Amino acid sequence: MEKKDIKSLTLEELKAEMTAVGEKPFRAVQLYEWMHRKLSRSFAEMTNISMAMKEKCGESYSYTALRAVEVQESAIDGTKKYLFALPDGNMVESVWMRYKHGNSVCISSQVGCRMGCRFCASTLDGLVRNLSPSEMLDQIYAITLETGERVSNVVVMGSGEPLDNYENLLRFITLLTDENGLHISQRNVTVSTCGIVPMMRRLAQEKLQITLALSLHAPTDEKRRELMPIANRYSLAELMECCAYYFEQTGRRITFEYSLVRDLNDTRKDAETLADLIRGLNCHVNLIPVNPVRERAYIQSERQAVEAFAALLTKKGINATVRREMGRDIDGACGQLRRRFLRNSSGTRAEL
Ligand code: SAH
Repeated sequence: MEKKDIKSLTLEELKAEMTAVGEKPFRAVQLYEWMHRKLSRSFAEMTNISMAMKEKCGESYSYTALRAVEVQESAIDGTKKYLFALPDGNMVESVWMRYKHGNSVCISSQVGCRMGCRFCASTLDGLVRNLSPSEMLDQIYAITLETGERVSNVVVMGSGEPLDNYENLLRFITLLTDENGLHISQRNVTVSTCGIVPMMRRLAQEKLQITLALSLHAPTDEKRRELMPIANRYSLAELMECCAYYFEQTGRRITFEYSLVRDLNDTRKDAETLADLIRGLNCHVNLIPVNPVRERAYIQSERQAVEAFAALLTKKGINATVRREMGRDIDGACGQLRRRFLRNSSGTRAEL
């Protein structure tokens, strides 16, 4: 029988588990505290739990504790990038960033991705598998332990499409924001999607206080289809309607992410079309100069074009900021660290 993943269980579920095997519910409270507050790495560390109990737990449950295979630290801004090995040997990466308002962690939600965005390194080998709730959580736990500092913001913007792993994502958010765990405020959690409309609608109905970020990247369907295959499924008109619905349901302002690619989506005309598209929506635009990925030919917009793009949006009354680039010197773009690792560890691909 496959062992249950104990770190993915809610406190209530864990209490039910304990009761079912004749243990007192307070055992569940203790176990939960060791896992989600004290961030212990194994049953062995749980000093107030009896040896017999620990053995029983070991037999019934698997215990997710990710191992950092590589940690890179930026000499420019202290940003840290982690490559974690999952229990089955797959790898995911996470990023830790220090901001004035607190520490932020960017986590992965899948091994690889099947969305196929042309500029993104995470999707080059397709989807390998979904991450479990505990594998998403433990990226944050392992980083908290390694840095010795509290994490106040979590962004699900690493490898993977979170809305393609919906159930696990929701359970992850429940555990992360639980008052018996790290108790991170929902308002400090951002989930980024390439725009899977039915799942965005479903998320809206959960009425969470998280921020939804939509990867827009183009102001017309035609241009968006060139960059993102998902644009063949859902039109911008449908997406905009869905964003308005999200705001209506949750009262949360949408963030639009727009990666600027030289001569492709960064002209004055593009900025004007974008402004017309999102006018009237309660939103914020995050402009990101595209990160060059070695397998792709996209080039970053000139600094000047980025500033002009932002200025035009602002002039039209749209809230826009240029994202400060963090960790430029440490395999910046999504999925790059994992790719480099895969390349170096497999002889056939070493020449890439
Ligand atoms: N699948 C989700 C979340 C992961 S990607 C999504 O699509 O939103 C997180 C963000 O990084 C997305 O906005 C994505 O489009 C962007 N991104 C991916 N590769 C990039 C690159 N090379 N340069 C700039 N942004 C990139």
